[in-house]
Amino acid sequence: MEKERYQLSTNCRLHHENNLYRDQEQHKIHTDINEWKCGYCRKRFYEEKYLDKHFDNRHYDMLNTSHGRCLADLCGALHCDYVMDSTPKKSKCNPAAAARNGHLCESLADTCFPVNQGPSASRLHEFFLRQFCDAHTCSGSRKPFSRGRRKRRSAFYIVISILVLLLLPLFYIFIYLYQRGIRSGTQDLKRISRTTRKKKPS
Ligand SMILES: [Zn+2]
Repeated sequence: MEKERYQLSTNCRLHHENNLYRDQEQHKIHTDINEWKCGYCRKRFYEEKYLDKHFDNRHYDMLNTSHGRCLADLCGALHCDYVMDSTPKKSKCNPAAAARNGHLCESLADTCFPVNQGPSASRLHEFFLRQFCDAHTCSGSRKPFSRGRRKRRSAFYIVISILVLLLLPLFYIFIYLYQRGIRSGTQDLKRISRTTRKKKPS
């Protein structure tokens, strides 16, 4: 979007002014590593999470809930669940839910990037459809974030950990056998030396 120098309209639900928590985020004052200040009442906190809790307890009335502008509502359409847990879902694809999310996704694309607003808007519209909306099918051939490397990397870690688990016992068995070999070898030497010493005086 920055590359295209495209300005989102406020009708778009992804516009930053439509973010419910934006006002709160702007009232977080980070003065020091261990010091967060509330922008509404100047109270100080050691950690950001306590400030978040304070916002919830004391300043919940500052949240602009008039438009129901929670971005989490759009999660179904935008695959936040894919980002939040990378484990593949075992549940069967629900065609009705997929169609509903796909429809919501397309309407998002239409409001955020109206095709009649010039070439860059239509390019972004197309990109948005390909990246987010096309995955709302039950055919299973398309996955969101086609360029994501997350899944491949986790598979790589699994393979590495299995290899390590297999090699560790082999390594210990090898060491055990090696040490036993040395010990029996020295015992043989002792036996040999003892028998030669016994034989000497005669
Ligand atoms: Zn406060």
